[in-house]
Parts: sequence; C-alpha cells; structure tokens
Amino acid sequence: YTRSLWAVRNFHSLEKPENIEQPLLALDNISAYYGSLPVLKNISLQLKPGRTLALIGESGSGKSTTARVISGLLLPAKGRLLYQGTPLTADFRMRTREQLRQIQMVYQMPDTALNPKQRIRDILGRPAAFYLGLGGKALHERVCDLLRMIDLEPGDYLQRKPAQLSGGQKQRLCIARALAAEPALMICDEVTSALDQLVAEDILRLLEKLQRELNLSYLLITHDMATVRAIADEIAVMQHGKVVDQGTRETLFKPPHPPYTAKLLAAEP
Ligand code: ADP
Ligand code: MG
Repeated sequence: YTRSLWAVRNFHSLEKPENIEQPLLALDNISAYYGSLPVLKNISLQLKPGRTLALIGESGSGKSTTARVISGLLLPAKGRLLYQGTPLTADFRMRTREQLRQIQMVYQMPDTALNPKQRIRDILGRPAAFYLGLGGKALHERVCDLLRMIDLEPGDYLQRKPAQLSGGQKQRLCIARALAAEPALMICDEVTSALDQLVAEDILRLLEKLQRELNLSYLLITHDMATVRAIADEIAVMQHGKVVDQGTRETLFKPPHPPYTAKLLAAEP
C-alpha cells in the first residue's frame, strides 16, 4: 500500500505531458570553493526522473563536492539548483522537510554513517517517523517493509545493532534508511567501493531493482567503469572541477572520445 502511494507520488510529474522531459534536478552553472580554492567550475548537470546519472572522474575532481552542493552542505558561490524546474534553496538548513525528504544520500563507509548504539528498528524508524509522520503500528509495518526491500527478515534483524551485520548488510541498511524518507533522488557516493566484488554486485542489483520498483533517480558517483556500464543511463565526466564530457551510455562509450574520457575508459581492466 505505501509502496504504491510512493510510486504515484514520484510519478506525479509524469502526469503532465509537458513535464515529461523536465529534469528532476538540475545544476545550473554551479561554482563552489573551499576557502579560496575553486573546486567546482561552472557545473551544469541534469538528472532525469527514474534514471541514473553516473558521475565519474579521478580522485579529487570534485564529485563528492558536487554531492555536497546538491544536499545543501556546501553553498555554491555562483549558480542555481532547480528541483522540478523550481529553484531549490542552497542551504539545507533552510530547506523544508518536504524538500529534504526528496533527496537522500548514501555514502562509501557504512560504518561511519551508522550510529553503533542504535538498533535497526530505530535506524529505520526515526527517518520514517520524521519524514512521513508515521507512528505506532504503521511505523512498525513500514520498518518491516523497508527491511524486506533489502532482503533482511524483520524478525531476525529489527533488534540488531550495526556491529551485528556484515559489510554488505550495513550498506543495504544505509540504503533502506535513505528509502525510509521515500525520496525521489538518491545520491550514491562510491557506495560499493569499500565492498568486495560479489557484495558490490549485490548492491548494484539491489539499486537497479529499487529504481524499477520506485522510479528512483540516482546520482551514482563512482570510479568503477564496470558499474557505469552496468547501470548508468547517462554519464558525466569530471576533471579538475569541470564537467569535461557528458553523454548517454550509447554515445559516451562509442569512440571517438575526448582525450580525458579516452584515458579513463582505457584504464578499465
Ligand atoms: P572527489 O570526490 O572527486 O574525489 P572531492 O569533491 O572530494 O573530489 O574534492 C575536490 C577537491 O576539493 C580536491 O582537491 C580536494 O582535495 C578538495 N577538498 C575536498 N574536501 C575539502 C575540504 N573539506 N576542505 C578543503 N578542500 C577540500
Ligand atoms: Mg569523493
């Protein structure tokens, strides 16, 4: 029941035919600094509803900083964020609860992202209560649903703490915590980088399944080309704080490539 409601909510913009091509989120000419160090230089990106934009580029190119700007943790010196065509307040502290609900983050290190003292029941229950106003039995049902969505049996896991989970289970829990807000967009910053390959593949399959079921948009930050080939619809390549190449999976993986993209693709094992 909650799941179908959610799908309706995230599909809402598709009900208006003129909005079919409207990006869910757009970065319009964003520049940002750490102190006097320029880190983002005129970044423009568009994320489409229900699609995956992979953001790739070498370490230090500004991918995580782009995520920080989207989530309102770093204020851009210039440029705008647009959510469904409407300007989005840059500072997360000034965003409404509804605006905060729509964009959720998952990070590389689940260990540092999870409070070791909380039980799974609360790790998932708190955001579900905060964002959706659920309580009592409805909240409990929702938490159980979230656990089932990441293939964990509620009876076995509700009372556990993060230390009682494997690395892959912890990352799935972080994904479920993001889902508790019923977001439209998830920013996944190197979410498989700390996991061994088979576990990482499980996580990618889970993300794909969730996207299909919930019409989620992903900003998928990764340095792994296999991941990009597996699940990206569109790809943006960053270098030294700029987007130096951009395309769909079809166009970007076909030569000729701009020199930097060619180098990245060639580095693939
Ligand atoms: P990526 O995620 O692509 O590896 P980042 O966005 O983390 O890159 O970093 C972009 C640049 O900003 C790098 O040069 C990095 O050293 C610098 N940087 C990142 N975080 C900070 C910070 N908190 N203070 C100062 N400089 C930072
Ligand atoms: Mg990073």
